[in-house]
Amino acid sequence: MNETDFLTLSKGNFGRMRYSMTKDMTLSELAVFAESLGRELAQAMLTSRLEEDPRTHPQEARCRHCTGRWRFQNTAQRRVIQTAVGPIEYRRAYGVCDRCGHTGAPLDEALGIPPFGPSVETRKKICHAAVVGRSFEAGREILQVHSNVDLSAKHVRWIAGTEGGRVRKERDQERTSYQAGARPASTTQAPRLLVIAADGGRVQTRSADPRERWKEDKIGIVYDATATPQPHVPRGEYEGAKAKTKTYVATLADWEAMGWLLRVEAERRGYARAENRLFVADGARSIRELKNLHFPEATFILDWAHAAQHLSDCAKAAFGEGTPDALRWFEDHKELLWEGKSDRIIADLGCLSDRLGPPTETDSEASPRRVLHQNATSYFPNNQTAMDYPRFRANGWPIGSGVAEGAVKQFGLRMKGSEKFWNGFQPTETQPPHQTGAEEMLALCALYHSQDGRWDRHWRERAQPR
Ligand SMILES: [Zn+2]
Repeated sequence: MNETDFLTLSKGNFGRMRYSMTKDMTLSELAVFAESLGRELAQAMLTSRLEEDPRTHPQEARCRHCTGRWRFQNTAQRRVIQTAVGPIEYRRAYGVCDRCGHTGAPLDEALGIPPFGPSVETRKKICHAAVVGRSFEAGREILQVHSNVDLSAKHVRWIAGTEGGRVRKERDQERTSYQAGARPASTTQAPRLLVIAADGGRVQTRSADPRERWKEDKIGIVYDATATPQPHVPRGEYEGAKAKTKTYVATLADWEAMGWLLRVEAERRGYARAENRLFVADGARSIRELKNLHFPEATFILDWAHAAQHLSDCAKAAFGEGTPDALRWFEDHKELLWEGKSDRIIADLGCLSDRLGPPTETDSEASPRRVLHQNATSYFPNNQTAMDYPRFRANGWPIGSGVAEGAVKQFGLRMKGSEKFWNGFQPTETQPPHQTGAEEMLALCALYHSQDGRWDRHWRERAQPR
């Protein structure tokens, strides 16, 4: 066998093509060859399918919007579209509705082909690459190497911004409906344990105003979990509840807006019917206010690591960094915190604070007087009910906000990639590619990272006929 005719197609464009696999080709060469052959075959199949569709050259068509008569301006307009198997060229009737002025191609509308740009399954790949790559340039490379899709980084950015804009619009409409009294359909069974958490990261914007340059990206997370009670486990060995399905919301808007988005997401996850509802966060005031306003029914759990960090800061303020007294005080009080004796902690902090006296106007944020005073009068008293760790352990609930911090890191990896500068501009199909905003990317990332299958669901719906 020196040279074998592998395949000769007798139909259409393929009649003239002959493919051969020779015996000196390596397996890699054979695989590359077979793959490109497969792509050509797939492109020919698609082209032929579109040509044979009766809607390619309809005798008469009615407008989808107003059932008016369709007037064809061009009965065989040429279009090249990027599909998952490569670019294909086809011709179809293009026209305008006599009554409402709507323009388009009946074939495109019937098959769910967007009016311009790549096909929906290609957009799905582009958006995937834009989300998982560290930058749009990385996304471009992923597409080229893994999908044979050849686009510029700008084009990747434009598609991701356009599609992210659609996701964002749907999300914001749902929030507006919720504010008007409509609850989102809950897709799950009543969860035994539903946990809400939120945290913030930093994103750099294009703003000329230095105070506006760094914006906080806020990530909200909802997950159901299996409680694992461990009432008598030593400190550091408590595992807490294991997260099952995590879903996300993300925005650059203020915490008030995040509160609404997170509440809608929680409702979707069955918050109203959940047996136990928890809210886990660090003690930041903005997030505590969000909890009180939007999740008053939930049990607030203060992140254990943050509470312990505050004790460490107090020990350092009272006894000096790294001194034996500081270490001893910290260990003793961490044990008290573990045992739920926050009354003792607040009393002890009060004594330490009194010894130094109240902070003066010239004291900095990190001055020992201010640290002790703030923790004794504000942080620990304000979060006291959220530090009932023995009860949380007995119930098998989570005591850490690691899931939320992990999410901030995960989103941060993308948002702090090589193009650090974002703007909040909302792109539409007609705006130039450089105007993709962080908000659109955050919406796209939240859709992708959510583990309840909504990414695939979204693209299935997107591909439906218009
Ligand atoms: Zn019409």
